[in-house]
Amino acid sequence: MKIIMLGAPGAGKGTYAKEITQKYSIPAISTGDILRENVKNGTELGKKAKGFMDAGALVPDELVCDIVVDRLQKDDCKNGYILDGFPRTIPQAEELKKALENQGAAIDFAIDIEMPDEAIIERMSGRRVCKGCGATYHVVNIPPKKEGICDECGSEIILRADDAPETVKKRLGVYHEETAPLIEYYKKEGILHEIDGTLGLEGCINAICDVLESK
Ligand code: ADP
Ligand code: ZN
Repeated sequence: MKIIMLGAPGAGKGTYAKEITQKYSIPAISTGDILRENVKNGTELGKKAKGFMDAGALVPDELVCDIVVDRLQKDDCKNGYILDGFPRTIPQAEELKKALENQGAAIDFAIDIEMPDEAIIERMSGRRVCKGCGATYHVVNIPPKKEGICDECGSEIILRADDAPETVKKRLGVYHEETAPLIEYYKKEGILHEIDGTLGLEGCINAICDVLESK
């Protein structure tokens, strides 16, 4: 089962990807998480990516495609995977298709989480992330048990630099321009499934599971 999650930043892709991981025992691969990890560790990739990320811009395709293609070779991807935050441009989608075709494989589902911009902006202003393990929270919707402290690892919970309101607007613009065309792309490929992102956590997960069990 090979799955792509599409949707604006903050639509909930990462949260749903993690739920699906548990239910179907396939890994969730988040390019955002991989990039942030590299920034934190000061790797070459991290140094190249940081400026783009902080500005709310996309990291260049070549950098991202290589990481993903490498990651998909790993053993745990044998039974499938769920890609969260990749592809994000048409060239990335083409690159992924080519890499899979070389292995005689293809993506099974492209799941688009639809959410109006106003709802995204409201949601992202409350989003918080753990400095230690990257777990995500929301001040209203998914608060940690103890204010400001991660349930998973006890580290401090902070506002991600690129979740600042001005940067969120920039990222939404980038989304509409560069990533939203993927909706048409996967519709043409015949694997697009649209989910109403305003259904709430449980509603969305149920809708996604219905899709995954339809094949
Ligand atoms: P969100 O889905 O909330 O926007 P992510 O964690 O997926 O957040 O991504 C954070 C940042 O990482 C993006 O704004 C972008 O700079 C970079 N990034 C992540 N995935 C990609 C990708 N596939 N292509 C280019 N840049 C990416
Ligand atoms: Zn943590």
